[in-house]
Amino acid sequence: MEKVAVVGAGIGGLAAAIRLAKAGADVTVFEANSSAGGKINNLQLGEFRFDMGPSVFTAPQYIQELYELCNEDFSSFSYKKLDVPFHYFFEDGTKMKMYSDREKLLNEFETVLGENPKKLDKYLTKAEKNYNYITPLFIETSLQTVSEWMNIKLIKALTRLPHYKLNATMDEENKKTFSNPKTRQIFNRFATYNGSDPYKAPAMLNMIAHLELTDGVFLPENGMVQITQELYKLALKQGVAFHFNEKVDEIYTLDEKVKGLRTKKNIYDFDAVFSNMDVGFTYEKLLPTSPKPEKILTQEKSSSAMVFYWGVNAQFEELAVHNMFFSDDYPAEFKSIFDTKTLPDAPSIYVHITSKEKQEDAPQGKENWFVMINVPINTGQNWEEYREKARSYILEKLSKSLHVDLSKKIEEEFVMDPVYIEHTYFGKAGSIYGNASNNKFAAFYRHPNASKTIKGLYFVGVTVHPGGGIPLALNSAKIAVETWRKLRS
Ligand SMILES: Cc1cc2nc3c(=O)[nH]c(=O)nc-3n(C[C@H](O)[C@H](O)[C@H](O)COP(=O)(O)OP(=O)(O)OC[C@H]3O[C@@H](n4cnc5c(N)ncnc54)[C@H](O)[C@@H]3O)c2cc1C
Repeated sequence: MEKVAVVGAGIGGLAAAIRLAKAGADVTVFEANSSAGGKINNLQLGEFRFDMGPSVFTAPQYIQELYELCNEDFSSFSYKKLDVPFHYFFEDGTKMKMYSDREKLLNEFETVLGENPKKLDKYLTKAEKNYNYITPLFIETSLQTVSEWMNIKLIKALTRLPHYKLNATMDEENKKTFSNPKTRQIFNRFATYNGSDPYKAPAMLNMIAHLELTDGVFLPENGMVQITQELYKLALKQGVAFHFNEKVDEIYTLDEKVKGLRTKKNIYDFDAVFSNMDVGFTYEKLLPTSPKPEKILTQEKSSSAMVFYWGVNAQFEELAVHNMFFSDDYPAEFKSIFDTKTLPDAPSIYVHITSKEKQEDAPQGKENWFVMINVPINTGQNWEEYREKARSYILEKLSKSLHVDLSKKIEEEFVMDPVYIEHTYFGKAGSIYGNASNNKFAAFYRHPNASKTIKGLYFVGVTVHPGGGIPLALNSAKIAVETWRKLRS
């Protein structure tokens, strides 16, 4: 039986462990922290429970796939589709709701923003088609071998080439399509779902809107952490062994072949290693003497985040589970994040409140607020100063918008910034998704799921192919394990 180690129990690592065990490997997961889940984590402050990392759950079919692989009943995974997942707020007082029902959605865009429903419907249909053509090629397939490209999926995807608008940015295409700048801002925001800049990212990424606006946004009954807790249980059932609080310090190799790994507790022999650690750190910390794919590792990094977790002593009718308070100057916000690497002066603010659907997450009459702004990666900025500045700005903006002195309503508080992300989850420079997708070749500069130089070394998670977000991390595991199967057969 082949002995395989997985470094890290993030969602990518868990999915890889399940797939490897099902394929007959003897699997051991090493996790530096005390529990599984990585950035999908819970925070308890007094009587308030918070989702600590990801909050938007899309494409549950990829979780279902893992259940089915293990012959488990997916109906035991309780989650619901949100009817009105987002409320949007603009600086001038405009408010609108994002309905999951297409008719209602088109009507809301027409009533509030004056958008032509036919045009919007066409845009969403195109996003869906692009997504369906591109997914089998870029998201469910390895880009590593030419043979994988020479197939019917590629030919089909190429027939839609003009629709991808390869030479335009997301913003350029959205500007051409929508008359109202607010609509453009709503659609440009989807660039942030993989930590990118809509004024640079290719228009093809406009297809991300499909996942949220057509497929829908879901909420696991017990919070986002339910996803990884359930995958952890599935992994245990498949016989996967877990070593918690055991950080891997080195992957050791001989003659360009993986031999095992080293932790502070022991040296272990393995036939293959799957790294769910940020790919940049995997090379830097675990393989310090191996040649590095410099071109890939030096690409521009994705954005990071600053999150204020607030236990709020009040309830707000006008807020939903997901809320966006847009800034007036979106281009300036992305310039700060990607060009000057400074705190945006007036960032857009995202507020996530699970107690809207799950009252147990906050005491009676109160709410659990996850308040996030996008920020640059850590390049040594004064984060203490930025935290204070961001906090004041957010409190002022939300107080004004909600007609309340929010500073008097905060009972509990915790703050996460890029330095915390870097230290707690080993995400290089606090980047959330590894490389950004700020140019049309970015997909080809993501690290592949198998090493080209070290036999037996594989990579999973959001910092490698196919990219950022839970659905893509799950696909990274699928591709990596399929590549492992092929290479050993
Ligand atoms: C604030 C925030 C909001 C986000 N919002 C969303 C969202 O709404 N939707 C979405 O889909 N995604 C979102 N993301 C991105 C999200 O984190 C990913 O989708 C996903 O959780 C990442 O999974 P992963 O498997 O790549 O790695 P991680 O979750 O980063 O897991 C890596 C694991 O490896 C462990 N590890 C690292 N190095 C070692 C080592 N040397 N030895 C042992 N263990 C090690 C770490 O401790 C960690 O547990 C968000 C992220 C953040 C931080």
